[in-house]
Amino acid sequence: MIRVAIDGPGGTGKSSIAKEVAARLGLEYIDTGAMYRSMGLKALREGVSPADTEAVEKMLAGTEIDFNDNHMYLDGEDVSGLIRTNEVSMAASDISKLPCVRAKADALSKQLAATKNVIMEGRDIGTIVIPDAEVKIFMTAAPEVRAKRRYLQLLEAGKPADYDQIFDEIQKRDYQDSHRDYHPLKQADDSVLLDTSDMTKEENIEAVIDLIREKTGEEFAGLHAVSE
Ligand code: C5P
Repeated sequence: MIRVAIDGPGGTGKSSIAKEVAARLGLEYIDTGAMYRSMGLKALREGVSPADTEAVEKMLAGTEIDFNDNHMYLDGEDVSGLIRTNEVSMAASDISKLPCVRAKADALSKQLAATKNVIMEGRDIGTIVIPDAEVKIFMTAAPEVRAKRRYLQLLEAGKPADYDQIFDEIQKRDYQDSHRDYHPLKQADDSVLLDTSDMTKEENIEAVIDLIREKTGEEFAGLHAVSE
C-alpha cells in the first residue's frame, strides 16, 4: 500500500500539486477539504449555524457525502464547483471545529484510504486520518505568497479579486484551523516540512515526487508517463 498524506494551511497549492502528482504516479487523489466544504455548503443552504451543535448533528444524520474520481457529492449532487467560493471556505472552516463533522469526514477518508493507493490532502491526514501513512508531508508557504497565488489564480479565471481581502481571509482561516480544540492543523512529528514559498509549481511537484520515491523505495517507472 502507498498512502501519501499531505497537510498544510489553505492556499499552499496542496490540491493542485497533489492532483498532478496523483496523475503522474497513478495514485488516487483524495481532497478531504471538499468534504468539509460540502458540509459547510449544506449548513449555509439550510441556515444551520455551526454554533448550534445539535442542529448540525441533526443535519448530518440526513446527509450523505462521497468523493469519487475528483468529484464531491453531497446527497447525490455533484457540488465540486459550488464549494469553491470564499463563503464556503469560511463555512467549512467554521463547521470543521465540530467533532461530529470531523467524524463524518474521517470515516469517509479512512474508508477511501483502506482500499487504494492514495494521495490524500487536508489538515489532519498525517496526525489523525492516516497516522501510519508511508509518506507524510507538511506543505507550507508564507501567507503573502499564498495570497498572491490565489489572487493571480482568480484574475486568470477572469474573476474579481482583492489582494487585501484574500490576505485577511487566509490569516483568519489559518488561525481558526490551527487553534481549534479538536484535531487542529499541526505538523505531524514524523512528517517532512516542505516550504514552497520560493518554488515554482513544477519544482513543487518534483519535490513531492522525490519524497515519495525516497520514502517508498518505489520508482514508479512505466506506471504513468510524466506529462510535461
Ligand atoms: O483544504 P480546503 O481549503 O479545501 O479546506 C477547507 C476547510 O476545511 C479548511 O479551512 C479546514 O477548516 C477544513 N479542513 C479540515 N481538515 C481537513 C481538511 C479541511 O479541518 N482534513
